[in-house]
Amino acid sequence: MPAMPENVKKIMVRLEDAGYEAWCVGGAVRDALLGRTPGDWDVATSAAPETVLTLFAPHGLPTGLKHGTVTVEGTEVTTFRRDGSYGDNRRPDYVEFTRSLEEDLSRRDFTVNAIAVNLRGETADPFGGREDLSRGLLRAVGAPEKRFGEDALRILRGLRFASRLGFSLEAETGRAIHRCGPLLEHIAPERIRTELTGILCGEYAARVLLDYPDVLGVFMPEILPCVGFDQHSVYHCYDVWSHTAYAVAAAKPLPVLRYAMLLHDLGKPETFALDGEGHGHFYGHWRRSVPLAQAILDRLRVDNRSKRVILTLVERHDCPLPLSEKSVRRNLARYGEETLRLLLEVKRADNLAQAEAYRDRQTLIRQWEELLELVLAGGACFSLGQLAVKGNDLTALGLKGPAVGVALKELLELVIDEKLPNDRGLLVEYVKEKLL
Ligand code: ATP
Ligand code: MG
Repeated sequence: MPAMPENVKKIMVRLEDAGYEAWCVGGAVRDALLGRTPGDWDVATSAAPETVLTLFAPHGLPTGLKHGTVTVEGTEVTTFRRDGSYGDNRRPDYVEFTRSLEEDLSRRDFTVNAIAVNLRGETADPFGGREDLSRGLLRAVGAPEKRFGEDALRILRGLRFASRLGFSLEAETGRAIHRCGPLLEHIAPERIRTELTGILCGEYAARVLLDYPDVLGVFMPEILPCVGFDQHSVYHCYDVWSHTAYAVAAAKPLPVLRYAMLLHDLGKPETFALDGEGHGHFYGHWRRSVPLAQAILDRLRVDNRSKRVILTLVERHDCPLPLSEKSVRRNLARYGEETLRLLLEVKRADNLAQAEAYRDRQTLIRQWEELLELVLAGGACFSLGQLAVKGNDLTALGLKGPAVGVALKELLELVIDEKLPNDRGLLVEYVKEKLL
């Protein structure tokens, strides 16, 4: 197991020197044992929060005193605690501090998150976390249904760890997740969103999406009609939801991209039609996907900027992109470079989750990208900012108010279509002749 960082060790030495227990716990221990780079290291101690504050004064910040947490130069030091009763399916009504490490470990969510290591490398692992780590299993500490009932967020934490680590939910824990899914109703949308983003961005997202649509459907019922929906299409080897799951996993792990893939085909079940030959079609399904996607993004309180990008990607995921420099410039003008690159990623991921026989699209997308690089490298004009005339050139010629903007747009169109060069003199000439 990789060594703990020096600053964490120093904190633990200080606590031990003062006569208290100090252990590293939680995600960092789990990740370190897996050979992954740990994120934040958390320290658990038998010292009371006030004692921790005093020991580390003036460097300890009372960031969560009620829950026993003091932050010492970025590291959270939390007093061993046991959680009181749970009234709201989310938070304990109260917590009590304890001198027992084992009690502290028993309140934690999964066995792989309930392993503690001290300065001498001694391990406390009362629930078999290391065994589960080696077998790739997520197992609830204690009775799964009870634990998910106490705090329903653990359901989504479990799916997030499965998606990130490629672990399976141990059978009884998995069944409890299905049964307890409806409790997610009690969880704040922001919390759900954070976990969902983690689930979508995991390397093993497809497996989780395929196995737990019922759970995700508790807060996104819009996905449920897609599950098992046969496409009757030669382009597709999967039903709508399976295609969605594979398309999510095929996209780069950027939240806006993964959300776009999650939502892109939501309109399919409603727009399905069989032709005379028994082939399925979903004409204009993207148009229907947009409001369904918007409803989900609003409900999850996704920020406006991300929402705009995601909805554009959903709306345009199926639009044709002709392979020509003019089309590249037009699309640059329409979307901007950043969103256009994302759109190409969406098309790539969408196609990767379609039937093998239609993967020649990958070549087309690659060619389009090469052309995009060429056009960008050639310094092509595709935005008003790059146009060789500015608003004040046109006012100097006598244009006023909204007419200035209209003229600039017209000039940009002409330049993009190569009907005029991006040359100040020639553009001014054109305005004098045609627009005044
Ligand atoms: P990550 O790598 O995402 O940070 P983590 O396991 O470290 O994963 P944290 O939210 O940082 O997750 O929590 C640290 C530890 O606290 C967990 O490993 C777990 O032992 C415990 N824990 C956190 N949230 C809960 C919860 N809702 N219920 C029970 N235990 C929890
Ligand atoms: Mg953590």
